[in-house]
Amino acid sequence: MDLKHHIRGIPDFPKPGILFYDISTLLRHGPAWKEAMRRLAVLVRPHRPTVLAGIESRGFLVAAPLALELGLGFVMLRKRGKLPGAIIGLNYALEYGTDRIEMQADAVRPGDRVVVLDDLLATGGTLAACIALLRQAGAEVPGAAALIELTFLKGRDRLGGTAFDSLIAYD
Ligand code: IMP
Repeated sequence: MDLKHHIRGIPDFPKPGILFYDISTLLRHGPAWKEAMRRLAVLVRPHRPTVLAGIESRGFLVAAPLALELGLGFVMLRKRGKLPGAIIGLNYALEYGTDRIEMQADAVRPGDRVVVLDDLLATGGTLAACIALLRQAGAEVPGAAALIELTFLKGRDRLGGTAFDSLIAYD
């Protein structure tokens, strides 16, 4: 099954000149979505994760079913101000300005092996910040994965020692 057929590119979203890769069509198609999760499970399992992490918000859609498939729990990496209780966070640079990623302070423990999931890897800035935050919390991050990778942006080169896999590449 060619999963690329289930992704559509939407021009000029969210800004003029940007081609947005939309996973809604993949989510909408039962067999394709199931196959995507099956393939990701094959890629993620060898990292022997103790817990998965999903990046808000479409990363949650990937991490939650995968966690069920692998019999693991998952933690939420969220944008500023969304999580209750004790929080740790990290600011990171965007093309214009900065952003912040946060998680609950007790979400992972030293010794945890976390695999991070998102829908798409572009420059790698978001994922690199998430990996740094998880490491700051004492976790190992042996792997990360996304449904889609924009390979021409070389985002995977920013991930330090964390291995990265994707199912669909655009170059
Ligand atoms: P990066 O930090 O440049 O790698 O951007 C990745 C983040 O932006 C991910 O959390 C994606 O959800 C989001 N993103 C960037 N471009 C797209 C796109 O074309 N489709 C869907 N999400 C995107």
